[in-house]
Amino acid sequence: MKKIIALIFCSGLLLNIHGQKPEETEDWSRKPEVVTPGKGMLPPSDAIVLYGGAGDLDLWESEQEGPAKWIAGDELTVAAGTGGIKTKQSFGDMQVHVEWRSPAKVKGDGQDRGNSGFFLMGLYEVQVLDSYNSETYYNGQAGSIYKQTIPLVNACLPPGEWQTYDIIFKAPVFNEDGSKKSSAYVTVIHNGVLIQNHVEILGTTEYKGAPKIMEHPAKLPISLQDHGNPVSYRNIWVREL
Ligand code: MG
Repeated sequence: MKKIIALIFCSGLLLNIHGQKPEETEDWSRKPEVVTPGKGMLPPSDAIVLYGGAGDLDLWESEQEGPAKWIAGDELTVAAGTGGIKTKQSFGDMQVHVEWRSPAKVKGDGQDRGNSGFFLMGLYEVQVLDSYNSETYYNGQAGSIYKQTIPLVNACLPPGEWQTYDIIFKAPVFNEDGSKKSSAYVTVIHNGVLIQNHVEILGTTEYKGAPKIMEHPAKLPISLQDHGNPVSYRNIWVREL
């Protein structure tokens, strides 16, 4: 009897092994494109470099109208009072890398200390602020989705030091009647530290009142905020997803 059971068991195993070939679970449908990662501070080979230094503002324009008026050299610095700037190109789903620096000479407090902003699609702000030993409402500190989501931790470096945001963004999708089909989602890594983990963006960034659901095209320009403080940027690159 034992022999018979063993035989049934073994043939079952054999059937199982022989019934499915390893090849059946191999996926050859999409060959991943080769991307050469950037060494050091260089962007990966398939990135669009939005600001790489050398004073080239060709890819940017003023949020109001005409050319961008910020101070452009090795780094790009807010020229207070000239207004925000935006990319000429529009983007939807993307991976973005941006480096920013709040002024070494600390001036002001809370929202007035090294305030700028990285606006995905020009509508959804990842806050840029000097939040190093400086307090403000938590959903308005550096790395917050402004007035929506508090960052998981405060990963700020001292003022005057370059800081990085690596952002992964999924754009919202709208139905034909203008209602929201699916929300935008964002992940933010600040100086190598995860601070926003696939967070739902509830609507447009609003200073007053609740976020608004506003239908818009699948791609829109990225914008940088002029909040009156001389915040600098460098190494801004994007990969469309
Ligand atoms: Mg801001």
